[in-house]
Amino acid sequence: MYVGVDDTDSVNGMCTTYLATELVREFSDLDLIGHPRLVRLNPNVPWKTRGNAAICARFGEGTGKPTVIGNIGGHEVLAYDAGKPAVPTREHFERVCALVERLAWFEDPKTNPGVAVSSVKPPQGLYWKAVHEVVELRPHLGEANPDFSRGWKNRRGLIGAVSAMAWRPRDRTYELIAYRAPNKWGTARNIDAASVVEMDRKYPGTFNNYDYEEQRPVFAPASPCPILYGIRGDSPDYLRDAMGTVKSEKVDRWLIFLTNQGTDDHIINASISNMQPFTSVRVRGKVDGLPRIIEGGHLIFPMTNGRKNVDCTIYEPAKKFRWVGQQLRPGDRVTVHGAVREEPPTINVEKICIENLAAVTEKTANPLCKKCHKRMKSYGRGQGYRCAKCGAKSRDAEFSLVKRSLAQGWFEPPAGAMRHLARPLKRMK
Ligand SMILES: [Zn+2]
Repeated sequence: MYVGVDDTDSVNGMCTTYLATELVREFSDLDLIGHPRLVRLNPNVPWKTRGNAAICARFGEGTGKPTVIGNIGGHEVLAYDAGKPAVPTREHFERVCALVERLAWFEDPKTNPGVAVSSVKPPQGLYWKAVHEVVELRPHLGEANPDFSRGWKNRRGLIGAVSAMAWRPRDRTYELIAYRAPNKWGTARNIDAASVVEMDRKYPGTFNNYDYEEQRPVFAPASPCPILYGIRGDSPDYLRDAMGTVKSEKVDRWLIFLTNQGTDDHIINASISNMQPFTSVRVRGKVDGLPRIIEGGHLIFPMTNGRKNVDCTIYEPAKKFRWVGQQLRPGDRVTVHGAVREEPPTINVEKICIENLAAVTEKTANPLCKKCHKRMKSYGRGQGYRCAKCGAKSRDAEFSLVKRSLAQGWFEPPAGAMRHLARPLKRMK
């Protein structure tokens, strides 16, 4: 039995992953098969609440030896690698719906919960569609055809609920999410920053814990939601030990999710001539002009594929990542990952690869008069040069190659400015 839930959270509180912990508790009469899944979908859909995350859990009767993947209410959460499936009933479905009605943040106009319960996984194409594009509810749900489903308000949460169920990991990561005691929700989080650095260094398989440039932990949300922090990693094996290294206020409950975070699953190969708004693309091209900084500290550089141009933007919160954009010069060959914005047509840069640096020259001196061995004087812009002593003329100043301070290879924004789905360079090796 697969249970998918989406869009129960709000910027004002709650979080769909917390609901997942309650779901696991609700179905303690069944066994968890595999880790609960935290599935991020297209980060560019205009109506998303926060990170556009949906969850899916699978229940049945476990076989073999279980592993501990969490602790909720003082009880260990066990998961089995395999098991006999549970046949979904209306009673199961009503239990999930009751949970959503108790916990979802219905007051938020952007919160439109959806629940789906199914004995079979929907076709995986539905996941890829929902992580790449902006999808319509009716055909999507029709294709998924779950045994039971319910959507509240505009019912859009159903898209995430069935898409999360449809995910078959190609690449995958894990996240241990630690939650706060309910009496702490909405208050400042108490986390010892030095212990986060220690954890980050001790467990190199984890990522996006700490921003070394800004010198602050970035694995904790800033919102008033129930999450204390989340430790992301390539494997679930060391996440519990990593949690043990972090000094913080009391962890009320924790659970390890299987996720598509840090996989670049949202990225589509595209060309500058053929990009769809609200998608995230990988495009290649040449820098087509000098970079410039606009109001607000955002950096823009133009890029071309020889037929069409597009502006690429690196936003101010990416801080030092803007330095990379600032060093670009016309003729540099780059690959850019980013979200396509419609108006004006722009790519919001997520990651950039410098493939080839153009030879850049700069004028180092006026021409030398061969007769008098003196530097000539300029006539003014575009007018050439003349020797003040003998009157000889020249048009050719002396140029030399500029040493570029940019290196070839990939660059990414600091951990705190990265999208959930973006694959960190650390994971690209
Ligand atoms: Zn001269």
